[in-house]
Amino acid sequence: MKPVLKDRFGRVIDYLRISITDHCNLRCLYCVTDDIAWVPHEEILRFEEIATIVSAFVEEGIRKIRVTGGEPLMRKGLPDFIAGLSRIDGIDDLSLTTNGVLLKRFAGELKEAGLKRINVSLDTLKPDLYKAITGRDFFRQVWEGIEMARTVGLSPVKINVVAMKEYNESEILDFARLTLRKPYVVRFIEYMPLNETWDSHNFLSVDDIKAKIESEFPLVPIDGTHNNGPARVFKIPGGKGEIGLISPLSNHFCGACNRLRLTSDGHLRPCLFSNTEVDIKTPLRAGADTTVLKKILHETLSLKPKRHHMQSVSAPKCHRGMWSIGG
Ligand code: SAM
Repeated sequence: MKPVLKDRFGRVIDYLRISITDHCNLRCLYCVTDDIAWVPHEEILRFEEIATIVSAFVEEGIRKIRVTGGEPLMRKGLPDFIAGLSRIDGIDDLSLTTNGVLLKRFAGELKEAGLKRINVSLDTLKPDLYKAITGRDFFRQVWEGIEMARTVGLSPVKINVVAMKEYNESEILDFARLTLRKPYVVRFIEYMPLNETWDSHNFLSVDDIKAKIESEFPLVPIDGTHNNGPARVFKIPGGKGEIGLISPLSNHFCGACNRLRLTSDGHLRPCLFSNTEVDIKTPLRAGADTTVLKKILHETLSLKPKRHHMQSVSAPKCHRGMWSIGG
């Protein structure tokens, strides 16, 4: 029988999100601060170290892995790393989150390596606004990357849209229309207060987003497909794609939280919004065996809070930015 990992509140924890680099080729205004200090290369977990951790955790009940960053496609050797993960017995779901800038080049290799599905972050369909949000003029590359992901058979391709009043509120219907003609899952994510880039005036709740879409299209709820996690998922009748709504703030889903995070510098985080971390790299590099790694996993689980307290949108509370945690 497969082991089941539970935290002290009885939640099944089966999902590990792994940030493999803190480097990024974009400078999204809601994510990266000006004063970023990159983690020195030797402090970043090597791929073999991550694989060792994953193998130990899978034996305890981790079943789902997401590779993220920074920008994961910037790290050399990613397809081989994915191939290695896909061979670990017991992983039921292996996915990746990327900004898509390098996706056109790597989509085929990643698919061949065993990746099944992919999430691409894209907050606007307008090249000029893309440049204003990300600091880089890469809209065309990202769009071609998304299309390539679909062409090589990564499925589903999910498009993550961080909703921000001043920037892309006017494009909510355009993104909804995209799902009429393309089989993408467009997921609107509430803008989260993580670091000093936070601007509360730009917060837009998923209820507002849903109301905006429903002013033009009926939304039919669908459930249980595509590992939707915390997303509430809908379809516009007749559309090829789907629409997901993710509300970490306005309606937090901590009661169903099933995840832990591993930062690129080797710290386990029991909650996205908490500053609590457990160092797994130091023991690992000191020779910790599988039993010790599992003990560290359980210690991290014991620190997982019942819920986050980010309901106040007034002030950011996190020591790390998203680029350093992986989202
Ligand atoms: N570079 C990859 C990417 O862009 O998808 C992976 C890392 S990125 C930090 C992961 C996700 O976090 C992206 O979808 C990004 O839009 C999201 N993100 C970053 N800061 C955020 C914030 N303050 N609120 C909501 N989402 C945020």
